[in-house]
Amino acid sequence: MKKQNSTASESWIELHLHLDGAITPEIAKKLAILQNIELPTQNTCELQNLLQVPSNCQNLNDFLQCFALPLTLLQTKIGISEAVFLVASALEQQQVIYAELRFAPQLHTQKGLSQEEIVLSALEGVKRSPIPLNLILCCMRGENTHNANLETLCLAKKYLVAHGGVVALDLAGAEGLYPTTAYQDIFAQAKQMQIPFTIHAGEAAGADSVATALSFGAKRIGHGVRSFENPAVLKQLQQSQVALEMCPTSNRQTNAIHNMQQYPLISYLNQGICVTLNTDDMAICGITLADEFCYMQENFGLTDGQKLRLLQNAANAAFTDEATKRYLHQTLQTTYQTKI
Ligand SMILES: [Zn+2]
Repeated sequence: MKKQNSTASESWIELHLHLDGAITPEIAKKLAILQNIELPTQNTCELQNLLQVPSNCQNLNDFLQCFALPLTLLQTKIGISEAVFLVASALEQQQVIYAELRFAPQLHTQKGLSQEEIVLSALEGVKRSPIPLNLILCCMRGENTHNANLETLCLAKKYLVAHGGVVALDLAGAEGLYPTTAYQDIFAQAKQMQIPFTIHAGEAAGADSVATALSFGAKRIGHGVRSFENPAVLKQLQQSQVALEMCPTSNRQTNAIHNMQQYPLISYLNQGICVTLNTDDMAICGITLADEFCYMQENFGLTDGQKLRLLQNAANAAFTDEATKRYLHQTLQTTYQTKI
């Protein structure tokens, strides 16, 4: 894949990025030194192989295995707050002007931190972010996650802000094994508490999962790539303008779409669906957001106009306040008005 020309002035917006999927070898080394943790190797290439999804990855379940090593570095207050800061700093270097970083507090309790301590640590990192940054708290699909999910829900309510902190809730994990319908009670409460939420849906499971997430009241859908399996779901997305957080490289790696030549992003865009483009897990996927746009341009003929549309959709769909949205739209206009 051709890398994006780093000298070009760009303004990217990242709405779907997992903290534990954003730990590059450089960040991993810094976090290891800071916490006196011994990594399996100091060699950057070998570390990259450990942190990046293998080429023979078969499905989402295989893909999720790759998170084990980064998670070992994200189990202390300093580790979590520094990771948020370092990822935000890497995003700034990549010309990302706004990002939403998501993580599941319940995955960071291995050394005894409470979910609340974990959220507070991440908020410390947000305070030091060089770019406008917000957090999304993930509930997890899985066995026996109910109580932990309820705790995450309550923390999302307690720390919810319009900008500069926790802005939304999510549902992550193995969608093929644990259907979206099983999480109705969590999102009924989230809706009642007026916590905005996105849900990973239509990735490892089909369009029905997207329909379920929409029925819960999701403001955005994580992936939603398989929505085309039901035209009624596509129509609902088009009419509601609920945004899809699409991540093509991640979908290719997890085999969410068997024939990538039929990747539906452009088709969705042409149908008036509010599509956005994201990395999902920039370190585990081995990409940047610039690479992802480049991939769509080279393989699917994404035009400059469509690129701007994707970015404007992201500005509209961001879980942030109106002032930040205005800033994002103005920055997009300044960056791209002379090119398009
Ligand atoms: Zn994701």
